[in-house]
Amino acid sequence: MASNKFRAIIIGGGPVGLTIANGLERAGLDFLIIERHPTFISESGAGIMLWPHTVRVFDQLGLLEACEGRYIPLHDKTLIHLDGTPVRNGAIFKYLSDKRVAFNDICHYFHTNSSVVTATHIRAGVGIENIEMTKNGVQVHLSDGSVEEGSIVVGADGIHSRTRCIMQELAKKTGNDIAKDEDPIVANYQILYGRAKYVPNAEIGTFYETHSTYRSSQISADGKRMHFGIYRKLPNPTTELRKEYTEEEVAEFVEAFSDVMVMPKLSFPELYKNCEWTKLQNQHEGLAKHWYYGRIVLAGDSCVQMTAAAGMGVNNGLQSAVVLVNKLYEALSNSPNPDTETLERVFEEYQNARREESLLICQIAARMIRVNTWDSYLTWFMGDVVFPWMLPEEKLMTKVGMEIVRGMQKFDFIKTDLKSGKIPWTSL
Ligand SMILES: Cc1cc2nc3c(=O)[nH]c(=O)nc-3n(C[C@H](O)[C@H](O)[C@H](O)COP(=O)(O)OP(=O)(O)OC[C@H]3O[C@@H](n4cnc5c(N)ncnc54)[C@H](O)[C@@H]3O)c2cc1C
Repeated sequence: MASNKFRAIIIGGGPVGLTIANGLERAGLDFLIIERHPTFISESGAGIMLWPHTVRVFDQLGLLEACEGRYIPLHDKTLIHLDGTPVRNGAIFKYLSDKRVAFNDICHYFHTNSSVVTATHIRAGVGIENIEMTKNGVQVHLSDGSVEEGSIVVGADGIHSRTRCIMQELAKKTGNDIAKDEDPIVANYQILYGRAKYVPNAEIGTFYETHSTYRSSQISADGKRMHFGIYRKLPNPTTELRKEYTEEEVAEFVEAFSDVMVMPKLSFPELYKNCEWTKLQNQHEGLAKHWYYGRIVLAGDSCVQMTAAAGMGVNNGLQSAVVLVNKLYEALSNSPNPDTETLERVFEEYQNARREESLLICQIAARMIRVNTWDSYLTWFMGDVVFPWMLPEEKLMTKVGMEIVRGMQKFDFIKTDLKSGKIPWTSL
C-alpha cells in the first residue's frame, strides 16, 4: 500500500483530525491536514479525560510516552454539596483498570492536541473556503487562494464545521437536500471552563463534582494546575452556534457561582482568582443524520455534539476516526483509488457502524448533565438518589466496562502487543 494515488484532505487538526492522520500514516495512505490555526498546540483548551479504549488507540499509535507527565492520575470521584461537605465518594477511576497497567485507567488528562502532532503533511494557518467535487476527486479551495487536490475530504473541523455546510450545499445542488433532514444543533447549557494555578489545599487526584438546581461544577488538580468546568442551564435553549460572551456576561456568570465550593476547601471565587485561562461558551447537543455525501465524510464534533459533563466527545470522536480509517484501509487494499460509488459505500458502512453507538453516548451525556444540574425533581430523584443506591459506583463502572468499553474499536491493521486491564478487551 506504500505508493498509491489516494490522498485524504483532512479539514481540522483537532484530536479527531490528528487521529485520522496518524491512522492513515500507519496505513501507508497519503493525507494532508488543513488547520486554520497557525499552531496545533494550544496552552488554552479543556482538560480531556481519556477512557481506556482511547488510551489503547494511543498505545497502538505509539503516542503514550508523549502523555507521560502530562496527565492527572485520578483515582477517586467525590460529590460534594455546594458548601463543600461530601455527599459520597468512590474510587471510580480504578474500577476499569488493573493497577499494574496504569495507562488503562480512565484518568489521563492532557491538553487537546498535544500528543498527536506527529503528522508530517500539514498546512496550518489556512482555512477551508470551498470544495469542488469531480468524478475522480476533490479540489479544496483555501483561504489563501491556493487549491489542494485529493481523493476525499474528511471534515474534522468541529462543531462549526464549514465542511458540513459545504457538503450540504453540494448535495442540495444535485437535488438531494440532506440539510432539511437534520435536527437543529441546540445549546441548553453554558460552560465556563479553564485552567488555574494550583492552590494549596486543593486535593490532588480526586475529581470533585457539585450538583444543584441548574448549576454544577467539575474540577481536578495535579500539583501544578487545576482544570475545571462550571455548568449552568440556559434560561432558554438556543441554536445560536457562535455565541461570544461579553465581559459583563462573564462577570454575571462568575457572580452566580460566588456561593459555590468546588472542592471541600476551595471556593469558586478563589479558584477564579487563580485562573490562567478561562472561556465561557454554550454547550451544544446534536447528532447529524447524514455523515457523508459523495467524496466528503464527517467525523468528531462536526457530526456529533454533546456537553462535556460525561467527558466523552473526544473518546467518541476517536472511535469514529478508528472505524473510518479501518474501512478506508480495507477498501484501498482491494482497489488503490476507489470510485465515488465505492467510497460512498465505505462511508455508509462507517456511518452505520458509528451513528447508533454515538447516539447512545449522546444520550448518556445528555442524561448526565441533566442529573448534575437537577433539571427536574424526577431527574434529581432518579439520578442522585435511586440510581446510586441501585448501582453503586463499582458496579456501574464494571457495567460500563463490560457493556461499552471492552467492545470498543482499535486500528485493525496495526499489530502490536497491546496491554489489557482487569476487564479484557473483546478484540485483541
Ligand atoms: C470544557 C470541555 C471539556 C471536555 N472534556 C472532555 C473529556 O474529558 N473527554 C472527552 O472525550 N471530550 C471532552 N470534551 C469534548 C471535546 O473537547 C470535543 O469533543 C473534541 O475537541 C472534538 O474534537 P474534534 O477534533 O472533532 O473537533 P475540535 O476539537 O473542535 O477541532 C476542530 C479543528 O478544526 C479546525 N477548524 C475549524 N474550522 C476550520 C476551517 N474552516 N478550516 C480549517 N480548520 C478548521 C479548528 O481550528 C480545530 O483545530 C470537552 C469539551 C470541553 C469544552
